[in-house]
Amino acid sequence: MKYSTLVTFIRGQFNTDQFIPLHEPRFYGNEKKYLIDCIDSTFVSSVGKYVDDFEKRLAEYTGAKYAVACVNGTAALHISLIAVGVKQNDIVITQPLSFIATCNAIAYIGASHLFVDVDFDTMGLSPEKLKIYLQEFAIKKEDGFSYHKITDQKISACVPMHTYGHPCRIDELADICNYYNIVLIEDAAESIGSYYKKKHTGTYGLIGTLSFNGNKIITSGGGGAIITNDEVLAKKVKHLTTQAKVPHRWEFVHDDIGYNYRMPNINAALMCAQLEQLNYFLENKRKLALSYKDFFKEEDIQFVEEPAHSKSNYWVCAILLENRKKRDEFLQFTNDNGVMTRPTWILMNKLIMYKNSLHGNLDNAQALEDRLVNIPSSVRI
Ligand SMILES: *Cc1c(COP(=O)(O)O)cnc(C)c1O
Repeated sequence: MKYSTLVTFIRGQFNTDQFIPLHEPRFYGNEKKYLIDCIDSTFVSSVGKYVDDFEKRLAEYTGAKYAVACVNGTAALHISLIAVGVKQNDIVITQPLSFIATCNAIAYIGASHLFVDVDFDTMGLSPEKLKIYLQEFAIKKEDGFSYHKITDQKISACVPMHTYGHPCRIDELADICNYYNIVLIEDAAESIGSYYKKKHTGTYGLIGTLSFNGNKIITSGGGGAIITNDEVLAKKVKHLTTQAKVPHRWEFVHDDIGYNYRMPNINAALMCAQLEQLNYFLENKRKLALSYKDFFKEEDIQFVEEPAHSKSNYWVCAILLENRKKRDEFLQFTNDNGVMTRPTWILMNKLIMYKNSLHGNLDNAQALEDRLVNIPSSVRI
């Protein structure tokens, strides 16, 4: 296809001849009202009603029993890994196709990465590839845990990611992790509002983590959250994110090495207003995704649709070019013409920090790196 036809189409969708970004936040609801209320109350920081309110509303929305607000999604991942007991030198399984935060959180613990390929259709960790890898390299010891046959490290957790909001085959991953006694933590940073087999992403694992960074579907400026159905874990996470302070009327008692990972009340105020609009945003974005799907139907460019058995939030829409050369031509043309497009992430196992990590066959991730491009996906006014 001629790329200029697509640029014209995208301009039509967003009804502008100005620069079109990839994903912009929208503040159409009670944002200003809640922010003013928050400032007037003086409770802008570590205590205040908006944090509690947001946690309650988020739990309700996702169907998780508990939600704990965090300062950002990376901190949510870090604290989750600590809370489930991942230790230095353990192995944590994750996918090579993800935003850097997933890998960094694992590195903060001093754990080793093990990269398992993604499925081509979901772009998330592949149950089939995971099973193949574990059958070859995992051994269950008397303590009930799985260890790596070659390095003898404990394989303690698995962190799949729901790429661009499209759910991965999370039920199958949960079964495999259960069999090998590996804790499942879902990086659902990109997938609020996405469902797999009618259950919200992030609720299949022992813990799910979310992000509310400015580029996500709803934002608190910076923010994140942990969702779980496990009461003990929820309490532990809340404790660890709030400096592990033991409640007391005046004494400063701390009973663990805690973190200052709580979400400030002023961010939570913004979050409450954003959450109220989430369903409208989702509908709006789904319409755009359907328009894209329709547009690309007859073309040699493939639109990435939501996988089977799932409802995606279509956070950022993605297309597949024929090969890397076409991808680069496309990126050049669109960005030269005021339409922001981006390639997917360089695979984590190629970055200097993670290049010596263990990995299986990564063909699907490589094909996606070569071919995938994100196109403008903001909620339309
Ligand atoms: C956005 C994101 C995060 C966390 O991001 P923060 O900016 O720390 O909120 C983690 N993982 C993935 C896959 C993400 O896209």
